[in-house]
Amino acid sequence: MKQVNWLIIFIFFGCCLSATSHAKKKKAVFIIADGIPADVIERIQTPTLDEIAKKGGYTRAYVGGEAGGITETPTISAVCYNNLLTATWVNKHNVWGNGIEAPNYNYWSIFRIAENQKKDVKTAIFSSWEDNRTKLVGEGKPEAGNIKIDYVLDGLELDKKAYPDEKHSLNIFKIDEKISSAAAECIKTNAPDMMWVYLWFMDCAGHEFGDSPFFDKYTALTDKQIARIWEAIKYREANFDEEWMIVVTTDHGRTASNGKGHGGQSERERTTWIYTNVQPNTYFKQQQPGIIDIAPSVCRYMNFSIPQEIQYEQEGMPFIGKVDLSNVKAQVNGKQIILTWESYSNSPVQIYAATTNNFKEGKLDGWKKVGKAKAGEKKFVFDTSAMESSFYKFSLRGKNNMQTVWVKK
Ligand SMILES: [Zn+2]
Repeated sequence: MKQVNWLIIFIFFGCCLSATSHAKKKKAVFIIADGIPADVIERIQTPTLDEIAKKGGYTRAYVGGEAGGITETPTISAVCYNNLLTATWVNKHNVWGNGIEAPNYNYWSIFRIAENQKKDVKTAIFSSWEDNRTKLVGEGKPEAGNIKIDYVLDGLELDKKAYPDEKHSLNIFKIDEKISSAAAECIKTNAPDMMWVYLWFMDCAGHEFGDSPFFDKYTALTDKQIARIWEAIKYREANFDEEWMIVVTTDHGRTASNGKGHGGQSERERTTWIYTNVQPNTYFKQQQPGIIDIAPSVCRYMNFSIPQEIQYEQEGMPFIGKVDLSNVKAQVNGKQIILTWESYSNSPVQIYAATTNNFKEGKLDGWKKVGKAKAGEKKFVFDTSAMESSFYKFSLRGKNNMQTVWVKK
């Protein structure tokens, strides 16, 4: 009899335990390995990245906005990191070069979104370049939301005693070694909820050697640095009730002629890549996602709520989970603006327009609902006589994702 009672008690508590523990705690890490062209990452043996892709996916991606369009963006490093952080192109975030002169912090970085959640979110930046935290994220700046990053390692490039300049910038490689090891250690011991790891050396290797055995060799070593972080994630998942998303990408490709330069709009400079361990959606598989899609994907994985006015301005969209529409284009045709898109559902899409861009100054725009469509229709015709202007912002709000597009007449 006693035995039976114990069995009942055991089953009872067993059920409680499984009911409370089945939602694993979610964590995310995104890594930028600077300036590795897609054709190189595809050609070189990268067992860690292959293992990540096997669990989730790999795709070629792009940077540079719309070539020749309003969102055209230089394929310059800091410009592209900020495309990732803010899910917008340069016409919005306003970082035009590595000098980072006047970022427009009204377009929130993913760190500001993370720090503004109701729940406590522990953030981390492990970066071979300090400006990523101090200028792009703008830690501690009132205009960037006065946020605090919980775990940080950066600024080693300024420590000329520990990392004196070396031939071929190998001091930067040593910094990447330290950053990747320390990031792995931080994951193992502190498990921050969201972490950005930035590795610099491949950009130096490209500028000096271009396409070369040297570049190939260090691309393979980059995979070994990522392996440290991937192993730490696997350790956490095996020993703690957590599940992790990892996203690995690069900020730009390189010139086709010799692989040394970048900044322009050539196909090799614009073409990047994304690896993730999370099952991607049809959009990821069918289209070529952009660097702007990474933050919305991490936000979705982490179940972050994004303030609406911020989300209306984001150019990117999640490459995981359900989505309705992508690749929105606008074409002026006399009195009409014709909006077209790719579709993944037949959900209703509410279409809003604004003729102001007050958001740029941190103010609200008077979004007006101008119509509705089904995602599957892939088209909406807007009659401009109802709202005369030389400038329009459109916001296409589906059930599962949004898209935005600017039009100048
Ligand atoms: Zn770069």
